[in-house]
Amino acid sequence: MSRSALVTGGNRGIGRAIAGELSAAGDQVAVTYRSGEPPEGLLGVNCDITDTAQVDTAFKRIEEEQGPVEVLVANAGVSKDNLLAMMSEEDFSSVLDTNLTGAFRVAKRAARGMIRRRSGRIVLISSVVGLMGSGGQVNYAASKAGLVGFARSLARELGSRGITVNVVAPGFVETDMTADLPEERQAEIKKNVPLGRFGAAEEVATAVRFLASEDAAYITGAVIPVDGGLGMGH
Ligand code: NDP
Repeated sequence: MSRSALVTGGNRGIGRAIAGELSAAGDQVAVTYRSGEPPEGLLGVNCDITDTAQVDTAFKRIEEEQGPVEVLVANAGVSKDNLLAMMSEEDFSSVLDTNLTGAFRVAKRAARGMIRRRSGRIVLISSVVGLMGSGGQVNYAASKAGLVGFARSLARELGSRGITVNVVAPGFVETDMTADLPEERQAEIKKNVPLGRFGAAEEVATAVRFLASEDAAYITGAVIPVDGGLGMGH
């Protein structure tokens, strides 16, 4: 059955792979994007998730074109790393505003229709560092840990309506976000990853596809790591 799906930040990296995976599984997929081009054949909606009005406009367009969102993947995220002593309040708040409040904005908008239909799938993309911590990333890690509490609370709120809410926590994945890590840092990370390598975006996407599927109907409030063993299941 073809469902209406939305992946935020689906124009590149992990989001693009998730959008491709859901589309290959038969869903009608919309992606939000700000830069570049949306993947060919998918509905691209220009949207900055830090702006509630833009989120609402994007949802209206998706509802018109492919129906109310039945599968939401809150993937869009940013990092602005620095040690606490050097981190500006602006860099702290803006990362929280995108990664955590951004997920709140899209989940709130999507939940409306899901509650009415008494079904839906919400998947939030967190990170291994949300649970392990990471020096130089207090803003990013706080936002990603926040998503876990958010998802588990929402899973409790929406469970009786047949809506599942889960978190996927990727480890280090080869995308633009990790491309700038210095080689020594990359080597150091790989030493701590039992599988000894970075992940591919597609490896995150298949986990999301599963959680969004009918096969995962009895899974909610879960955190699924896709991290090569780095977090050992947390
Ligand atoms: P990229 O930097 O490659 O892509 C980030 C995506 O988020 C882009 O599509 C970007 O859109 C979008 N985005 C950022 N800010 C906004 C905003 N305000 N409004 C709308 N869209 C926005 O990152 P990845 O693909 O690597 O990461 C995807 C998710 O996975 C993120 O949440 C990240 O934190 C998480 N993650 C990544 C890991 C990794 O190792 N790569 C590890 C663990 C988690 P645009 O192109 O328009 O800027």
